[in-house]
Amino acid sequence: MSFDWSLSRIHCPVDLAARGKRAGHLELPHSDNANPLGYYPIPIMTIVGGPGPTTLLTGGVHGDEFEGPVALLDLFHDLEPDDIKGRLILLPALNAPAVRASARVSPLDGGNLNRAFPGARDGGPTAMLAHLVESVLMPHCDAAIDLHAGGQASVFAPCALAARTAEGELSPENMALAEAFAAPVIWVLGRHNDNRSVNAAATRHGLPMIAAELGGNGAVTPAILEIAKRGLRNCLGHLGHLERSAPPAEPVVKVEVRAADHKVCLPSEGLFEPLVEAGERVAEGAPIARLHSLEDPAREALTLHAPTAGLVLSLGTRGYVRHGDFAALIATVIDEAA
Ligand SMILES: [Zn+2]
Repeated sequence: MSFDWSLSRIHCPVDLAARGKRAGHLELPHSDNANPLGYYPIPIMTIVGGPGPTTLLTGGVHGDEFEGPVALLDLFHDLEPDDIKGRLILLPALNAPAVRASARVSPLDGGNLNRAFPGARDGGPTAMLAHLVESVLMPHCDAAIDLHAGGQASVFAPCALAARTAEGELSPENMALAEAFAAPVIWVLGRHNDNRSVNAAATRHGLPMIAAELGGNGAVTPAILEIAKRGLRNCLGHLGHLERSAPPAEPVVKVEVRAADHKVCLPSEGLFEPLVEAGERVAEGAPIARLHSLEDPAREALTLHAPTAGLVLSLGTRGYVRHGDFAALIATVIDEAA
């Protein structure tokens, strides 16, 4: 069964079905002052080898997260059709207008693509992109991997995210894929998963799926990129595209976020001084950050404390922060390899 592009307003000039290796651009129609009559190009690549499954690999859903786009572009250049069974569809910068602007959300309509699923054929550019992925591509896919990072506002302990089912069960297929990715941390998603995400779209189609959070700070580092590239190859082995390679036997910690207030946000504005690093363990009540006031320099810095014992899954990276900004996410350790 071939892709039904008539479902979408986005044009795809790249043949995703024939054996071979191809790269081009989706043509996202959006008429604005900068580009009244043309289209916004979204890179798309495919590698089609022998018979086998189809996996969708996305990066750049948020435009200030660059680790995924780099890892996926490299993956495309490193593989040939003879190397793989089945088909890879790569969208390394799904929200390409946002990536070009180094911005989390679309500069075209302000939309957050990971809060836009299932999207709409006749919606704005962000809704059209979400709709294309969920309604045109996912029905032909057998698995999905979506690469994220902390962006400019935060940094994550590198982790693969495995979602629970709607019934709260841990999907064995998602967990096996997360274990294959072999990042230092597995974040088990449940109650706080958003039904407008790529992750939720994959779940609606019954696809085994992981997301990954790969660092952040709005930039790429060699160590994180290594984790991303190794993780992708391990997953392609697990999914049957490549010869399976044994994941390195490094300790993996499984965590989950147990309560909404385990995300710490800031009570006032000022200069943000983290006292911990992403990936560090903290005890309940341990000091995790200080907030210095410019408005009242005589006032002592305010100390923020860990709301629970666990692992600092993510940490804010902005220097000057405002009331309500993100400070830290503390995850509870649920399983730890000996
Ligand atoms: Zn993201």
